[in-house]
Amino acid sequence: MTAGILALQGDFCEHEAILQRLGVPTQQVRLPKHLDLVDRLIIPGGESTTIGKLLVRFDLLEPIRQRAGRDLAIWGTCAGAILMARTIIGGIDGQPRLGLMDMAVRRNAYGRQVDSFEAALPVAVFGQPPVHGVFIRAPIIESVGADVTVLAEVPGQQGVVAAQQGRHLATTFHPELTGDDRFHRYFLEL
Ligand code: GLN
Repeated sequence: MTAGILALQGDFCEHEAILQRLGVPTQQVRLPKHLDLVDRLIIPGGESTTIGKLLVRFDLLEPIRQRAGRDLAIWGTCAGAILMARTIIGGIDGQPRLGLMDMAVRRNAYGRQVDSFEAALPVAVFGQPPVHGVFIRAPIIESVGADVTVLAEVPGQQGVVAAQQGRHLATTFHPELTGDDRFHRYFLEL
């Protein structure tokens, strides 16, 4: 199995380092031909409007959507989670997206960069200890459709921060910035 990491913008190197530590072959995806080499794909954190525009410019948006409909498992972290959402609240006009998960995501839901925070997240599928959630100008998943499973919420706060729909995953925080590889291993098993 080869894990692809979309490498147009954002923190793709951090994802790659974790996957390599887990012994998984990786492939940076920058062009449509790279998609043929991967069995799953991570969309990293960064800036969702920029990544969306680059997906269009590098002719990757439709090929990824088509592969996702066939067999590709995709995990979006933070900006990646925004791109996975069918509905984006607070996006720019016509913001390109993959739209593969039936959920509404609000960009910059906690405020500005200085309002970034870290929190302990109980994740039932992992048990103890809680996941250390790093939220960097993060979005929030405001609502999910019937086919979407909620994996995590910030205790005491409204909204979902990790969700799954079939083989697709979205986390509004950055597991790749911690030493905890449980979300990576979970995604590799989907
Ligand atoms: N605020 C960014 C956006 O809207 C996401 C931030 C991140 O990926 N850490 O795209």
